[in-house]
Amino acid sequence: MSARTLHYVIGILALLLTSLSAKTVIIDAGHGGHDIGGRYGKVYEKHLALDTAMRLEYYLKKKGYRTVMIRSSDKFVSLSQRSAIANKYSDAIFVSVHYNYTWKSHVEGLETFYYTGKSAKLASYVHDGMRSRTRAANRGVKHARYYVLRNCKLPSILVEGGFVSHSGERSKVKKGFYRDALARGIVDGIVKFDRSGAW
Ligand SMILES: [Zn+2]
Repeated sequence: MSARTLHYVIGILALLLTSLSAKTVIIDAGHGGHDIGGRYGKVYEKHLALDTAMRLEYYLKKKGYRTVMIRSSDKFVSLSQRSAIANKYSDAIFVSVHYNYTWKSHVEGLETFYYTGKSAKLASYVHDGMRSRTRAANRGVKHARYYVLRNCKLPSILVEGGFVSHSGERSKVKKGFYRDALARGIVDGIVKFDRSGAW
């Protein structure tokens, strides 16, 4: 076998091994279709969530993770369908991406939610990742009984990437570079969770 062929064979084997050992991230873009989520003027949560989810997919694939998109277009998917899709996978984690809204217009910042103990660790790594990439205000990591978090058997978190109801934060979340930073921060947290051996 020539050195060149050997190189080629090793390359194929390495690729095969990574794809066999690749862990899966289920990416859940919140809302969609008639369910627009939070909204201020023309700024819709469902659009921001999908865009961020697609950036997340891009960066995770680049790091060698396998990804599953709950939705890749502006369509409605019920909460029970979302957790049913996620529960088909093992050795996976579930990340739901949302943006926030409240009638209290001064409220701003990032929030990350979890339900189980194992998810708490993932939540704190991802939250730290988002904070250091975006420098957004911090509303903390919290326990919550959200449907998707209670019904996914995998480590599951829900991130809120900022408030569309806060004028300063709204102008940030509308920008691609902010959503890109948020996605990169989520990836940083996922990698840290993976390397910690908790996965
Ligand atoms: Zn939402």
